[in-house]
Amino acid sequence: YKNHMKLEFDSKSQNEAFARVVVASFATQLDPTLEEIADIKTAVSEAVTNAIIHGYEDRLGIVRVICNIQGNELEILVEDEGNGITDIPQAMEPLFTSKPELERSGMGFTVMETFMDEVRVYSEPGKGTRIRMVK
Ligand code: ATP
Ligand code: MG
Repeated sequence: YKNHMKLEFDSKSQNEAFARVVVASFATQLDPTLEEIADIKTAVSEAVTNAIIHGYEDRLGIVRVICNIQGNELEILVEDEGNGITDIPQAMEPLFTSKPELERSGMGFTVMETFMDEVRVYSEPGKGTRIRMVK
């Protein structure tokens, strides 16, 4: 079984809830448990929030969310064309944040890794970031 969707929206915080609900709704065709749906929502929420507040900071950009279903597996890509990440291993460390002044806890990547089976980060400074997650 295969299916695919692509969602594109402005990097506004209002769109985070929107993206999370769209992905959850697309995922229902895999007949997930309520817990799996909650996990997917949480992970998408973290990745999209990061694209908005770290990728684009105060400017406006485009965030893209792509979902691919392959058999019983859901692949989620969250992409921005913003700042990018210079040190990916450091960014993924629990409690690391580049914005402590905004009361970020530095737990976003840890949350994604906890709730998804696979998390990969591809990023180039000045070009943008792509998060690949599988459940
Ligand atoms: P929290 O998610 O707990 O509110 P946080 O966003 O700082 O805090 P993480 O989500 O784990 O923590 O991200 C860690 C760091 O990785 C961020 O502080 C930021 O420096 C960098 N980062 C994450 N996503 C992006 C992105 N899309 N573009 C640029 N930098 C990013
Ligand atoms: Mg975060």
